[in-house]
Amino acid sequence: MDEKLLQFFHSLDRSLFIDNRYKTLAHLDRPLPIGHGQTISQPSLVVYMTAHLQLDKTTRVLEIGTGSGYQTAFLAEFSQEVYTVELRGDLGAKARQRLDALGYGNIRYKLGDGSLGWAEHAPYERILVTAAPKRMPEDLIGQLAPEGIMILPLGPPGYQQLLMVTKDKQGEVTQTKLLDVAFVELVGKYT
Ligand code: SAH
Repeated sequence: MDEKLLQFFHSLDRSLFIDNRYKTLAHLDRPLPIGHGQTISQPSLVVYMTAHLQLDKTTRVLEIGTGSGYQTAFLAEFSQEVYTVELRGDLGAKARQRLDALGYGNIRYKLGDGSLGWAEHAPYERILVTAAPKRMPEDLIGQLAPEGIMILPLGPPGYQQLLMVTKDKQGEVTQTKLLDVAFVELVGKYT
């Protein structure tokens, strides 16, 4: 695993992204409630997904499901620009305050349904979806650049597979299974 990623993981205080009674549990490697039935992801999974995205300072990343903003900080740290979309306005607003306070100036925020992606700034070299659709979100594949990588959980509530979808130069798409996971549901077209 990339040394810089682990260093960043240790330097980022996860409790900054939780503002309810679960704050004191921020150090545990488990998902925690952030309101509206949503969760901040498990830190080891955030590190794992970030590593598999193979980011560098030339990549533009689309993130669907800003949530607490914790994962967004990792994306912003290791890529050129992050476009993050959150359905729930108060979660999105709080995430933005936190990430602004941490000094990230390379994040663009959108409130609304991200199941259709963010067409205006497409294509993206990387896409990370942190809520699970039941069906493969073809709109997002359409917004993935050639030689791009998308990571997403796919499947019914409570049980999904984390997939890595890659697109080659010719636009051909291949998917690889990474892990069994349990994310909250991606609301919208692919529910
Ligand atoms: N990476 C986040 C995970 C948040 S949970 C974190 O670690 O904090 C998933 C998030 O996806 C929730 O905030 C939920 O509101 C959001 N979400 C669900 N459906 C969505 C949609 N269609 N568009 C955008 N965000 C969505």
